[in-house]
Amino acid sequence: MPYGAEIIIDIGDTVLCDFCNEDFTNSDALGGLLFQSKGVCPTCEPEFMANVKKHGEERFIRDKPLEFESFRAFILRIRGGNNTVTVTTFNTEEDYNHEDRGKDGG
Ligand SMILES: [Zn+2]
Repeated sequence: MPYGAEIIIDIGDTVLCDFCNEDFTNSDALGGLLFQSKGVCPTCEPEFMANVKKHGEERFIRDKPLEFESFRAFILRIRGGNNTVTVTTFNTEEDYNHEDRGKDGG
């Protein structure tokens, strides 16, 4: 991959949990939530919420599914049809070497 390239990937209707990576694309499971920009699936939700309460981070919960709305439908609604992920490579080899790889790139 050349430096400075931008690649746009269309992930279509694929719905994955941002924490456990479980695939909910064909699931009607209810529940889950949006924490900042991360989708938390119904499976992860109980343990996740326990931690949120422990750390007082309720303000970071951006949205929750409507009543009877599946996690999949919820995530697709939030995306609003924007199903692309943009991958940008580093401009130069130097940029790459100086990048802090510990940070959350979203
Ligand atoms: Zn999960």
